[in-house]
Amino acid sequence: MWNEKECGRCHISPLVAHIMSWFTEETICMGCSAKEDEIKRKMKEHGLNPNDYEGCGFIPDENFFVKENLALEALKDRKDKAKTTKEIINMINRSIEVSSNEHIMRK
Ligand SMILES: [Zn+2]
Repeated sequence: MWNEKECGRCHISPLVAHIMSWFTEETICMGCSAKEDEIKRKMKEHGLNPNDYEGCGFIPDENFFVKENLALEALKDRKDKAKTTKEIINMINRSIEVSSNEHIMRK
């Protein structure tokens, strides 16, 4: 049963339409849900599967995508080539530089 009077996230009140958040247990408005759809689309762009983050309890942001993607890549690489930790850290630092440069260029 639904008895919330306002959006759990942006606190628009009263709610005309509502939906469960994908990432948290909040009941949110359609506007916030559309924002979550956008987040899910961006996750896919970063090679992450939104289904793996259903109910994760927080709203992933760009920073999270980058870190999570690098962590997954590092794990994959580690299995393939058994890289040293130092190499992985260097790789992550390089990728962060590249992605922040791309971010600036897009603006
Ligand atoms: Zn809302």
